[in-house]
Amino acid sequence: MPTPIDAFRVLIAGGGVAGLEGLLAIRELAAGPPHVEVLAPETEFSYRQLAVAEPFSLGEIARFDLTELIEGAGGVHRLDSLAEVRAAEQVAVTAAGAEVSYDALLLAVGAGSREALPGAITYRGLASNTEVHEAILALDREQISSLGFAVPATVRWALPLYELALLAAAHLADIGDAGKELHLVTAEPQPLALFGARASQTVRALLDEAGVSLHAGVAPARVELGGLALMNGERIECERVIALPELEVRPIPGVPQGPHGFIGTDMVMRVDGLRGVFCAGDAAWFPIKQGGLAAQQADAAASAIAAEIDPEAEERPFRPVLRAAMLTGSGPHYLRAALGHPDRDHDAASSAAPLWWPPAKVAGRYLAPYIAARASETNQPSPPLGDLDPEGPRGAEEHREAIAMALAGADADAAAGDHRNALRWLAVAEQLELTLPAEYSLKREQWRRALGDAAC
Ligand SMILES: Cc1cc2nc3c(=O)[nH]c(=O)nc-3n(C[C@H](O)[C@H](O)[C@H](O)COP(=O)(O)OP(=O)(O)OC[C@H]3O[C@@H](n4cnc5c(N)ncnc54)[C@H](O)[C@@H]3O)c2cc1C
Repeated sequence: MPTPIDAFRVLIAGGGVAGLEGLLAIRELAAGPPHVEVLAPETEFSYRQLAVAEPFSLGEIARFDLTELIEGAGGVHRLDSLAEVRAAEQVAVTAAGAEVSYDALLLAVGAGSREALPGAITYRGLASNTEVHEAILALDREQISSLGFAVPATVRWALPLYELALLAAAHLADIGDAGKELHLVTAEPQPLALFGARASQTVRALLDEAGVSLHAGVAPARVELGGLALMNGERIECERVIALPELEVRPIPGVPQGPHGFIGTDMVMRVDGLRGVFCAGDAAWFPIKQGGLAAQQADAAASAIAAEIDPEAEERPFRPVLRAAMLTGSGPHYLRAALGHPDRDHDAASSAAPLWWPPAKVAGRYLAPYIAARASETNQPSPPLGDLDPEGPRGAEEHREAIAMALAGADADAAAGDHRNALRWLAVAEQLELTLPAEYSLKREQWRRALGDAAC
């Protein structure tokens, strides 16, 4: 007999991108709506996808109170973590020893990282920024004259490394330092080849203009003294190397896991062989580990959970569309590609103007507008993320004008002594541009201090 709607219990393990998107999607798609509990060990949701900007003092990592985000979306936060799944009984056991019954369980526990290129700085995001900053400082102080960025052969989502290389080049250009060498080594046949040939050409041109030497189609082999050895036997002279890690999922007792711990599912993300259990995000089998895709998987799982509650509801399988907002040092560059089509250029787009709205770094259908509303303190319900026509009216120039207007608004309000509104304008500009120019990051600090002083 089906579980009555009001008694249907959904448990989400993980309070990251897939977990929050899953919560928002279930509240949107499921009749009822059901009771949703989010099991997550932390109290904060941070936008780590912007971590690459931090070593260059561009903007700041947005941080949100996780419990408030969960409660604002109609869920309940259980501050604990998943230790075991007893699928036959539909019970999840937590690290604190609680036994939580569920009708549907969404595993959204993400993945851990492991060094893939010994001797290199392994770039894990926020936790690695001190080391990256030190490497940049070493360039600035003439202690080294070359820096390599390496994408190991097994890594499929390489965007953060392209961003670091472009931001490092922009930083050197800003300080008028022309004598340094930057190299990007990637096993991809073309730069960011997942996005199609046209996007690769654009990325190649961006690297070229920035003065980053590209070595595509060859994997890094090992870091040697003063250099990086490549799989084809060549060697690049670079005194320090930054590389992306490989990902893996820790064992979860009761859950079948494949190589590197990844969890197998069908296309609505139902875990192979386990009744009522779904998996979305970096922990799932799909080889490209990316926030936008994690959110799409969570949406697919939410649709299947909604269909378990209401047989009339439609299951919407995972149909991957990659959306990337690449930080370049002179505004983001937007890339979009549907992955299912044999011709990568079919329906692909690349533009300096946003290709989706809101123009978030993590393009989650429900998460992006939810976070945008929180960041700008409007907290207004907004429509789900939608794609924009690259030929449409919101061109790159109009977009630049909107950002310039927001920054001018901030300056005007600050000059009039209204620092609260000035900060709101900065939040708008940051949402449009993803980062703030360095001078506005400084102004934000000053205006926050002024606001704090006024409150005393
Ligand atoms: C530096 C960097 C830049 C990136 N840039 C981009 C980008 O520009 N665009 C993009 O789309 N993606 C980007 N990504 C990838 C993106 O961040 C991930 O793909 C995405 O966060 C995966 O979402 P997830 O929910 O699966 O995992 P996460 O977001 O990592 O969340 C996993 C959650 O599960 C929790 N958890 C772990 N174990 C347990 C447990 N046992 N029980 C309960 N909870 C648990 C964790 O605490 C965490 O809250 C970037 C990643 C990095 C590191």
